[in-house]
Amino acid sequence: MDDIKKKVLIVDDEELTVRMLEEAVGAKGYAIRTALSGSDALSIIKEWLPDVILLDIVMPGLEGLEVVETVRSMTLPVRPSIIVISCKSEKEVMVEAFAKGADDYMIKPVNEFELMARIRAQSRISELCAKLKADRENLSTILEITNSIGATLDTSIVLDVIVKRVADTIGAVRCSIVLVAKGNDGYVLVSHENPDIKNFRIDLRKYPEIREVLKTREPLAIKDILNHPLMADIHPLIEDLKDMSVLVVPIVFSEEVLGTLFLRARRIREGFTKEEIDFCQIVANTSYNAIRNARIFEKTIRDQELLKEIAITDHLTNLYNQHFFYTRLEEEFERAVRYDNQLAILMMDIDNFKGVNDEYGHRRGDVVLKEIAGIIKKCVRKSDLVARYGGEEFAVILPHTPIDGAAGEAERIRKIIGEHCYAHLIKENITMSIGVAAYPRPGLMNSGDLVNAADKALYAAKAAGKDCIRVDGREDEQSSSIS
Ligand code: GH3
Ligand code: MG
Ligand code: MG
Repeated sequence: MDDIKKKVLIVDDEELTVRMLEEAVGAKGYAIRTALSGSDALSIIKEWLPDVILLDIVMPGLEGLEVVETVRSMTLPVRPSIIVISCKSEKEVMVEAFAKGADDYMIKPVNEFELMARIRAQSRISELCAKLKADRENLSTILEITNSIGATLDTSIVLDVIVKRVADTIGAVRCSIVLVAKGNDGYVLVSHENPDIKNFRIDLRKYPEIREVLKTREPLAIKDILNHPLMADIHPLIEDLKDMSVLVVPIVFSEEVLGTLFLRARRIREGFTKEEIDFCQIVANTSYNAIRNARIFEKTIRDQELLKEIAITDHLTNLYNQHFFYTRLEEEFERAVRYDNQLAILMMDIDNFKGVNDEYGHRRGDVVLKEIAGIIKKCVRKSDLVARYGGEEFAVILPHTPIDGAAGEAERIRKIIGEHCYAHLIKENITMSIGVAAYPRPGLMNSGDLVNAADKALYAAKAAGKDCIRVDGREDEQSSSIS
């Protein structure tokens, strides 16, 4: 910080005064520029952004007080301190200068020591102002991050906010959160300059600065990556990082180190300030809580979803169970009525399955049931829903399907099941009877009616000698044609 020279602009129409001040102030190690008129001064101020302006009042053209007024109306990244140096000693002029925005007033001829003391005092004030401003910005960043954690439990959104805001505040060219996995594996959880980088794996052997921080659990700021002893081993890998600084802050809570906040910035001259490091440490702590909260929440959701899944699935076949079949059928039925869609269902029952159990045992019977479940699932569309309706009974919901399409589908499934070779079964082939029904059809008022219609058709298929399909409302024509 100290090797950055403070910039002092000297403005006076008398060249002699300018030279004198330049000599006095320049000797104390300040960077100096000079202007002989108010308008020249304004263009230098805009472009050079001085910290302190020593300003004469009486000048041809733009007067000193007008310069003060103009400067104060400009929005500059750094607010310059203005010390008016004038031969006018009238109280009114002084008051006017202060009113327009001057910070100090000296009467010519000035004492060199007094001038230096006043410049130092102004510098201190501007440093305090800058620190206040930075603190306020940091606070607002931390507030924003905290708010984003409150507003969303989506880890990636929270972490995106964190790295973006930190990068902005510090002026980093790269800001990421690196998580530590096992051994030398690290993961870039999020990176500000590339939102697509998520869970990008890195080899921590190439990041000695991160390894160091994991070891010490203390922030590490390196001013010049290329010339730091810690980085010597990986020098060939970082040759393109000339003039780059790095800041690594641990994301740590009690004994657990989750990872690090990792920043690269061009700070070869001034490095990172203590305030910046403190700020990053606060953000790192916040991100720790965000990552943890979000993880706990996501796990809870996953557990709940798992429980939900368990409640709706049949354990043997992994198909949906009967309860869920009814729930979904009711929904689909309502939708079909509302949007005037067609909706079909198939009720299936394995033929003579008792015989399979008797011959091969219940366990092998179970394996056959699983195989059949798999076959049905493969046969139908993604939008169809397959359920185990009972012991050796299955049911399929076919949204947006007319009765003919459903009958075709049923026939296809029946054939495939009949032709399939089942593991463990030597003699028998398995066959299936299927009942088909579809909405709309006169008299079919609700999902229960639809199930009854398909059940009746299934019963008709059994009565017709099994291994066949029957379609609701077409019992007569089928008994003479299909089976
Ligand atoms: P049908 O052609 O008339 O349908 O004759 P079926 O023998 O298939 O019908 P029935 O209703 O008489 O018997 C059903 C058989 O399905 C009896 C039962 O042991 C068997 N079953 C039901 N659930 C399971 C199961 O989870 N595992 C096994 N292995 N068998 C089951
Ligand atoms: Mg049965
Ligand atoms: Mg049966």
